[in-house]
Amino acid sequence: MTHDIHEVLQRVFGYPAFLGQQEAVIEHTVSGGDSLVLMPTGGGKSLCYQIPAIVRDGVGVVVSPLIALMRDQVEGLRQTGVRAACLNSTLSYQEVLEVEAAVANGRLDLLYVAPERLLGERTLDLLARTRLALFAIDEAHCVSQWGHDFRPEYLQLSALHDRFPEVPRIALTATADEPTRREIVRRLGLGRAPMFVSGFDRPNIRYAVVPKNRARQQLLRFLEDRHRGHAGIVYCLSRRRVDDTAEWLRGQGVDALPYHAGLSGGTRQRHQDRFQRDDGVVIVATIAFGMGIDKPDVRFVAHLDLPKSIEAYYQETGRAGRDGEPADAWMVYGLQEVVTLRHMVENSEAGDARKRVELRKLDAMLGYCELAACRRRTLLAYFAEDAPEDCGNCDNCLTPVTTWDATEAARKAMSCVYRTGQRFGAAYLIDVLRGRDTERIRRFGHDRLPTYGVGDDLGPYEWRSVFRQLVARGLLNVDVEGYGSIRLTGDSWPVLRGDVEVLMRRDVRPAATRPRPRRKEPDPRLDPATWDEALWEALRKRRTELAAAQGVPPYVIFHDSTLREMVARRPGTPDDFSQLTGVGDTKLRRYGPDFLAVIATRGEASSDQGHAD
Ligand code: ADP
Ligand code: ZN
Repeated sequence: MTHDIHEVLQRVFGYPAFLGQQEAVIEHTVSGGDSLVLMPTGGGKSLCYQIPAIVRDGVGVVVSPLIALMRDQVEGLRQTGVRAACLNSTLSYQEVLEVEAAVANGRLDLLYVAPERLLGERTLDLLARTRLALFAIDEAHCVSQWGHDFRPEYLQLSALHDRFPEVPRIALTATADEPTRREIVRRLGLGRAPMFVSGFDRPNIRYAVVPKNRARQQLLRFLEDRHRGHAGIVYCLSRRRVDDTAEWLRGQGVDALPYHAGLSGGTRQRHQDRFQRDDGVVIVATIAFGMGIDKPDVRFVAHLDLPKSIEAYYQETGRAGRDGEPADAWMVYGLQEVVTLRHMVENSEAGDARKRVELRKLDAMLGYCELAACRRRTLLAYFAEDAPEDCGNCDNCLTPVTTWDATEAARKAMSCVYRTGQRFGAAYLIDVLRGRDTERIRRFGHDRLPTYGVGDDLGPYEWRSVFRQLVARGLLNVDVEGYGSIRLTGDSWPVLRGDVEVLMRRDVRPAATRPRPRRKEPDPRLDPATWDEALWEALRKRRTELAAAQGVPPYVIFHDSTLREMVARRPGTPDDFSQLTGVGDTKLRRYGPDFLAVIATRGEASSDQGHAD
């Protein structure tokens, strides 16, 4: 039986065209070749092995470290009519027997297996008796001992090739860096396999960093303005901040739930399930949350604290917008962050060499925050990718930042640090610079210093920005042992002597921090002439009901983008319905009548209204 891979793409998945490298990878795998596939999150890795598994004879075996994810992936496939199952430790013995029988009788297209399970004799024997279409090794960077997701079981996956030399293997990862790639190739014995590399840009994600100024209020405002009712993740550094922030957001009417390693396993599972299954849940989390989240419609990732490196930041923000729809990566950032993170690195157990590496990574991250140029270009350059032009979809592109000559301000700040004995924090120094009359300043006699009052040309907001930028660039240092007192560094002296100029980005002071009245930002992709909010809500409601009845996440039924197309195109017949992106044969049969009925009812309601007017 021959299948056209395009025909499968349309009939089973309901997509009109392949994305990026998908077609090349699929053709290569269908014809029996090994490969390594590097694609960013949301790039569409799954189809690269799912379609070959459907097209080739036998079952495709997918190795995945994330047991929690398998269930939803299998469910998503079943919804499209693909015969899929998983083998992992969450199954009962009876269920295991059933899956094994399905494998042995050739009744499956795809089998998801945890690595430790796959390498057990029982599973290997089963596979030896079965016709195999391919092995897909998902999250292949887990073989890397230097990576943060190392899984010892992954090292043994090289045995697959020895035992099943005829079966093609496809290793997939979203991790970009060169040493990890080399390690995957070496450990999995993929030396002669071609590598399919896609660009790592995520053009649908809008990157923005704002100076911290009452972070929670800023977050709430961001949610109200851009993400009312949307699912998203808010990252904080500590458990305590996670708990406080989640509780505060709930008090403000946001459906927010905490997630961190200090909560019981049951609570974590419950919160994760709600996030996956319900519309519009916000998870407030430490970085313990994320790996193993495969939700395509996460609309924003917000950082209330600074990540430790650009790699971590890119990975965390990459969890937004896997479905390709517009999403936000938004962060607030202030002087305190720098202090806390430097402190954590310097006081860690790590050796000196490691600490130096970590401090360098942190500095790169600070540089990113203080950037006045296109953020995406800088991120991509960090991953050795050249962007030919500014992206037009980051805060600095959308609202160009001006720089100003801050040489004088920097010298005043440094001189004030020096003359007060390098013992005070930014707030006090700013009071001295601005010539404020406080009891503390008089007690120390700092009102008699030549720097007293020399800085009243700038407001406190501007001075905080100056100190933050000086510390971020290492022109000043914060002594964390000394309660955050600011000190000079070796690099301060050339500035103080007037040998170098200091240019700074001009932070735009946020307007009043009270959230504005409820208002949804108009979506630029929607034609106001065809958009019908009530129909949209009715379709979402129907989707929620259908999902709840089956105990599955709503997005496995239809993605938002498919619902949006329903609103815009209002299909009236099954034939029209089958033209929508994401509607294959099985979903047309299963859900077409339900959604067509909603569209028809709504059509009548709005024309009735038309008559009444
Ligand atoms: P990854 O595993 O690389 O993060 P996925 O395989 O989960 O990405 O795919 C990301 C999203 O893109 C999914 O929602 C998927 O349905 C969608 N997608 C994948 N391939 C296509 C395609 N050819 N056309 C339209 N949407 C696609
Ligand atoms: Zn940009």
